[in-house]
Amino acid sequence: MGSADSTATESFVMMPSIIFTKLFINGEFVDSVSGKTFETIDPRNGEVIAKIAEGDKEDVDLAVKAARAAFDHGPWPRMPGSERAKIMMKLADLIEENLEELAALDSLDAGKLFSLGKAMDIPDIIGVIRYYAGAADKIHGSTLKMSREFQAYTLLEPMGVVGHIVPWNFPAMMFFIKVSPALAAGCTMVVKPAEQTPLSALYYAHLAKLAGVPDGVLNVVTGFGPTAGAAISSHMDVDMVSFTGSLEVGREIMKAAAASNLKPVALELGGKSPLIIFDDADLDMASDLALLGSLFNKGEICVASSRVLVQEGIYDEFVKKLAEKAKAWPVGDPFDPQVRQGPQVDKAQFDKILSYIEHGKREGATLLTGGKPIDKKKGYYIEPTIFTDVKDDMLIIKDEIFGPVTALMKFKTIEEAIKSANNTKYGLAAGIVTKSLDVANTVSRSIRAGSIWINCYFGFDKDCPFGGYKMSGFGKDFGADGLHKYLHTKSVVTPIYNSPW
Ligand code: NAD
Repeated sequence: MGSADSTATESFVMMPSIIFTKLFINGEFVDSVSGKTFETIDPRNGEVIAKIAEGDKEDVDLAVKAARAAFDHGPWPRMPGSERAKIMMKLADLIEENLEELAALDSLDAGKLFSLGKAMDIPDIIGVIRYYAGAADKIHGSTLKMSREFQAYTLLEPMGVVGHIVPWNFPAMMFFIKVSPALAAGCTMVVKPAEQTPLSALYYAHLAKLAGVPDGVLNVVTGFGPTAGAAISSHMDVDMVSFTGSLEVGREIMKAAAASNLKPVALELGGKSPLIIFDDADLDMASDLALLGSLFNKGEICVASSRVLVQEGIYDEFVKKLAEKAKAWPVGDPFDPQVRQGPQVDKAQFDKILSYIEHGKREGATLLTGGKPIDKKKGYYIEPTIFTDVKDDMLIIKDEIFGPVTALMKFKTIEEAIKSANNTKYGLAAGIVTKSLDVANTVSRSIRAGSIWINCYFGFDKDCPFGGYKMSGFGKDFGADGLHKYLHTKSVVTPIYNSPW
């Protein structure tokens, strides 16, 4: 396996300054009510980066109170959409001015590649903010001619106070995929970033204030899920929760929403996505897609192609090619531009992935590559790991591992491939590699998943809706759907007397 030289990487390390470590409530950085803090860790070496204010129920109450006042009495929901757009555009510009610093914060906190942060993560969120800013003054309902003696028009109104609870794998995108459309819609909000990656969210709160987002509109409460997160999902004054994270926590959030004020929830949950490669595929393209699909962002991505299904005619040749490429995949310091895979986000995730690998070995799957941690200055590095001889009942083919671990399976017919691809409780995404339009169309329509990528993988864009089927959740992010979930439709009806029309 490729591995970047750890001494050579030192010169690439650009340390961002850690300026913001407190909760952001009503436009101010404040300590938590309890005064407690928690440590955020550098996954390259397990060392403490900073101590962050630990928010709990009392802090969430304060943040919700601020968001409620900003919604009920403040200018944000009432101002013309074009005014909100201007402020959002300014926020995007400020992020652009601080692009390197923001990319470095997430590399430090989450072990994400700095090169990709600069080229992708941060430019992508700038695009998302501008996209929804562009929509902010185009939110309008329709006029209805009704069948009885009435006419009606609909108003699209902001949902109110929204709670956003987000994971750690894409701290920038997870923040703005939720915050941007909610801001455009005129909502106010409380965001709880993941406890593993609180740094950049606080920086964004600071930039939002500089851009002119009024106090109380965007609040950030850092802290843990069962305390701060649960306080948001069960809060009587939060009008909606938008969550991205695991299936298990999604269930808890739905229960809390039901048990409190029956607030609507949007859930973007886990996946176990198949990449299906047919005999007619270009082998180089197919193996590149399989490699990227399973190792991108160290496999810590909800749509990872963690199941690769390969047709029998090319299976042996494909396996050989994939193994060669996986062995040459460079793992190391995420600040090194030569590296393609950094450390897993934290010790818990590292241990969880390794225990799945051990399980796979015990269950009788064969290790094609990897299978071990990489010893680098106590960092949480794991070898790109590929299993073959995987059976349907093995845990490694059923559970979301969320790490650089892929399972290869062989199939004979298109029917077998479809059956196998759908043999999961999840339904987030799927990839198809074939030259046949008929095969691509048939398989696309037969797979129960929210995104289908043909001869590509990770085909994301801000104007293309994204979200799950089955236990991968409901409520789309991106595109017009991503905006409309933060809007209520109100019908206003008036009678029309004696009109011949
Ligand atoms: P997680 O569910 O453990 O945590 C996500 C967030 O929920 C964190 O902020 C956490 O603090 C909070 N949380 C935890 N317990 C809570 C509770 N009881 N009440 C309220 N909030 C609580 O997920 P994770 O480990 O941070 O992220 C990995 C998961 O996220 C994977 O399953 C992955 O597939 C999923 N994910 C999905 C998408 C998508 O778009 N579908 C994108 C990224 C990640």
